[in-house]
Amino acid sequence: MRPSYRPRLVNGPFGDPGLYLAFQLQNRALLFDLGDISALSSRDILKVSHVFVSHTHMDHFIGFDRLLRLSLGRSKKLHLYGPAGFQENVRGKLAAYTWNLVQRYENPLALHVTEVRPQSRLHAVYRCRDRFRPAEIREQATCDRTLVSEPAFTVSAAILDHGTSCLGFSVKERFHINILKARLDELGLPVGPWLGTFKRAVFSQAPPDTPIQIAGGGSARAGRAPALGDLLPQIARVTPGQKVTYITDVGHTSSNATRIVELAQDSDHLFIEAAFADAHARLAAAKHHLTAGQAGRLAARAHVKRLTVFHFSPRYTGRGVLLEKEALAAFEQG
Ligand SMILES: [Zn+2]
Ligand SMILES: [Zn+2]
Repeated sequence: MRPSYRPRLVNGPFGDPGLYLAFQLQNRALLFDLGDISALSSRDILKVSHVFVSHTHMDHFIGFDRLLRLSLGRSKKLHLYGPAGFQENVRGKLAAYTWNLVQRYENPLALHVTEVRPQSRLHAVYRCRDRFRPAEIREQATCDRTLVSEPAFTVSAAILDHGTSCLGFSVKERFHINILKARLDELGLPVGPWLGTFKRAVFSQAPPDTPIQIAGGGSARAGRAPALGDLLPQIARVTPGQKVTYITDVGHTSSNATRIVELAQDSDHLFIEAAFADAHARLAAAKHHLTAGQAGRLAARAHVKRLTVFHFSPRYTGRGVLLEKEALAAFEQG
């Protein structure tokens, strides 16, 4: 199965935390945490449509300026999500600069910012042409943890405790459409953008009689467009979607553990912090971080298929393997 998105850590395990999730066949990506993002190319950063910030400690938010700098002057709608206090953090960042000329920009950037609170969401829009003054401020009462719901995937959050409110995130593909290349060849159908249209029709549950225009080699094919319902079983297999979870900067409390296990349940890939070795569990608790063993045990409890640990404390520089081994041993022992 070729996954429709591919997650990768922005930095090595000792660098600032961050997960970049690029969609295949689409000029688009999601970004989890916004610390040092200098390892990402400008091109990769400009693909980002949604940014999910766990909390606003510097190592998770200092990249806001680079993202903003690159996005300025572009016709772009950028969605940002963060925990309680996030609107004030974004306003503080924006207030650091002088915006006397930006209202003349032809391509207006807009930041759509959502603060995730326990019982509500606080939305605001910051438009370049309004000199980034907050507008359309509204509070929406909800306990729903789904932040983004698109035909192809959803993003959910859990509110966790890190001495401050900190969000964990999960991306779930609704289902996965595997195009059978051999069947396309047998039927004499070309590979082309029409497959994207076909997939979108499946995701949006279009009626089976929806015609699918097959184009290839720069021209539309002659003859009647086949119906979606006839085409689907012939050229594709639908399988369960991929789930990826990102957890960082959390103390090992029982309420955090319960929420993490619930959010990460059955993930194909869990990215989770392992800041300290098990021998330093007291230090980890004092700093509201996980040990590697705790991270591994949470992964086992959540029955994830694959585990990647990151956000190692600099005290283990040169000994990162120790943290990986502790996490993996705990994961395998369950
Ligand atoms: Zn932190
Ligand atoms: Zn951190």
